[in-house]
Amino acid sequence: MIYQTIDRRRVRLLRCGLWAAYVTGGTAVLAGLGVMGAGGLSLGMTASALAAGLLVAHRWMRDEGGVPVLMYHSINDDPDWLPWPSTIISVETFKRHLDVLSTSGFSIIRTRDLLDARQKGTPLPPRPVAVHFDDGYVDTWTAALPLLERHRIPATVFVSLDFIEDGTTPRPTLADVEAGRATPSDLSWHGYLNWAEIDAMTRGGVMDVQPHGVDHGRVETGPEIAEHLSPHNWQRLAWVQWRKIAGSKADWVHWEAPVAVPLGAPVRVNAPALAGPSWLDSGTRESTGAYETRVRRHLALAKETLEARCGRAMEVFCWPENGTSPAARQIAGTLGYRATTAGKGENRASEDPRVISRLGVGDRTIGWRCPKAEALTLYASIRVFHGNYYWFYLLIAAAVARRVHGLVRRQTRTAP
Ligand SMILES: [Zn+2]
Repeated sequence: MIYQTIDRRRVRLLRCGLWAAYVTGGTAVLAGLGVMGAGGLSLGMTASALAAGLLVAHRWMRDEGGVPVLMYHSINDDPDWLPWPSTIISVETFKRHLDVLSTSGFSIIRTRDLLDARQKGTPLPPRPVAVHFDDGYVDTWTAALPLLERHRIPATVFVSLDFIEDGTTPRPTLADVEAGRATPSDLSWHGYLNWAEIDAMTRGGVMDVQPHGVDHGRVETGPEIAEHLSPHNWQRLAWVQWRKIAGSKADWVHWEAPVAVPLGAPVRVNAPALAGPSWLDSGTRESTGAYETRVRRHLALAKETLEARCGRAMEVFCWPENGTSPAARQIAGTLGYRATTAGKGENRASEDPRVISRLGVGDRTIGWRCPKAEALTLYASIRVFHGNYYWFYLLIAAAVARRVHGLVRRQTRTAP
């Protein structure tokens, strides 16, 4: 089947724009007739036509059938522990999200249920939602897992082999603190899952473990220099260091300075490593064959290593940074992955069932951290993904608030 994507944002904007134009236009005509003192008959007929039209327009706004897959990264009260703050959500916001998921009539399904529904036709419960965690940060163990267990919400975590810590015992969690078995200072918040925690998750049944690749890398894609490593950007450009370090680099979050490539070094234009051929040090582009071999090795190593360790099939490959290509997807299929991520649709029956589309979840939807507002916008985002586009107006309002907040912040920063 041809890989299909729909630009879901454009579709939603179009539907909502049409509906708003119809409602405001119709209301204006009615008001105009009233002002002109039109007879009761023409006023009544216009009102009836408008009402009938609203019923038709309602169909533009309701198209149930999407299955949202929420994509989380880090659940952490330190908003700066990673150089990508937009991927960090506070524990309080996450708790509110879980309240929304458990009390709003949603059915939380496993990723496998979604694949079975799309690939084998098994039925899904009403208003299904799936939950994913990318990168395998230690807070998936410390905070997310105990909270998910409390709500009996299943989820999937995607781990990269080079970012799994060596520890041989699972570390304390929020549940241990609540039960008095540990103190808050015993909790680990900076770093990645260790193998013992991955083993415990595999046995536990709430969190499924699936592959996110080997090194979460980027590659240079041309000879042009994009920037130079500096004290301000080297952490955001951590991949430049990772690339020069074979094997584990899970401790990179504790580095205080670059360890492999010095400050001042040039960084060429780049892209996620699995998305396409790389620019080689020899000054030539990697051949298509070499690129595909690299992708195949990478996907196979992630699959074999985790299957051997976890004793279960690895079915979904999560592309780091959504970086993929039609050839890479094809390779994933031949290796036995049932599906991969990075779709741009809504996981509908009409879309390619081997492609999972996900909804990135943030913590500053309205521009600043407000857990109550995050709970409401999460609900709206899920309903829009299901196909209830009325909720999109609330997301538009949130986007406007975010934009205004950004402008005000910029103004106050630049004010003398
Ligand atoms: Zn990732």
